[in-house]
Amino acid sequence: MGICDDRVVIVTGAGRGLGRAHALAFAAEGASVIVNDLGVAQDGSDPSDTPANQVVEEIKAAGGNAVSSNHDVADWNSAAEMIQLAIDTFGGLDVVVNNAGIVRDRMFVNSEQAEWEAVLRVHVMGHAAPARHAASYWRSRSKAGEPVSGRIINTSSGAGLMGSIAQAAYSAAKGAIASLTLVQAAELGRIGVTANAIAPAARTRMTEDAFKDMMAEVGEGTFDAMDPANVSPLLVWLGSQDSADVTGRVFEVEGGIIGIAEGFRHGPRFDKGARWEPSEVGSVVRDLLAEAIEPTPVYGAG
Ligand code: NAD
Repeated sequence: MGICDDRVVIVTGAGRGLGRAHALAFAAEGASVIVNDLGVAQDGSDPSDTPANQVVEEIKAAGGNAVSSNHDVADWNSAAEMIQLAIDTFGGLDVVVNNAGIVRDRMFVNSEQAEWEAVLRVHVMGHAAPARHAASYWRSRSKAGEPVSGRIINTSSGAGLMGSIAQAAYSAAKGAIASLTLVQAAELGRIGVTANAIAPAARTRMTEDAFKDMMAEVGEGTFDAMDPANVSPLLVWLGSQDSADVTGRVFEVEGGIIGIAEGFRHGPRFDKGARWEPSEVGSVVRDLLAEAIEPTPVYGAG
């Protein structure tokens, strides 16, 4: 018995890194898994079907149920085909884990249009498109009077929540994913769908060079906090039927830590009851800032 028996799960970008760990963990808890991966290099170039196929083989070797998908999740029609593949192959769809991602790190002042477009495309469209088609499917089931327990699990990042030096486009995209999650949760709850996001930290090709010390492997017998598999149990639980009351949240998850990001909220304010003169604004803003909670520092700043 697993906590995701009979659940059908899509994990995007599941050919390596965090997505691979999520796919293996869902399969180990009884889910049938669509292992999606375009098999690209870290910057999004050179597609290959090898990584997704390898993970499918791993899942099958462990006695699980999986098929591969090489769809580009950021392409609207490809994302629709991926959703249809799950329905045609496994007879339905319960969980979409949006995880696929790329990076093109550069200081903001040097960043180029093509880098912005590539990063925003894969992260923002690559999250919106699969969930949008899944939501259509869940709405049609709900309208037909069938039970729906749909789950959208998005992948934001500390960069999206706090900002990260040399990752302006990536931070903007990951911040957009956090906001997207809030709207999905608010709109889709009435048809039985939850939406949550994670901000993970783990050793993958995305982090092993950029954060060498933090990501270093540890010796035998010591808890390897940066193993990507440590992130997956939270996702598996969020994908299960048991998490129906949890929606619209961003979880920070790393090693043995599960945290809730508290996000933007209304802070101190002052209402003059009339339009401000520009010359009056400075002192009011400084008074309000003195009352407000200090923002968490941007990653890599200072
Ligand atoms: P990774 O590079 O190992 O895996 C990303 C996978 O996404 C790759 O296998 C790649 O082929 C696939 N992919 C890229 N574009 C795709 C597309 N258009 N369609 C389908 N697949 C595509 O990186 P990772 O570290 O495992 O990252 C997974 C997710 O977690 C990403 O969204 C990343 O931004 C996020 N994240 C990772 C960390 C971390 O510490 N590793 C921290 C914060 C956020």
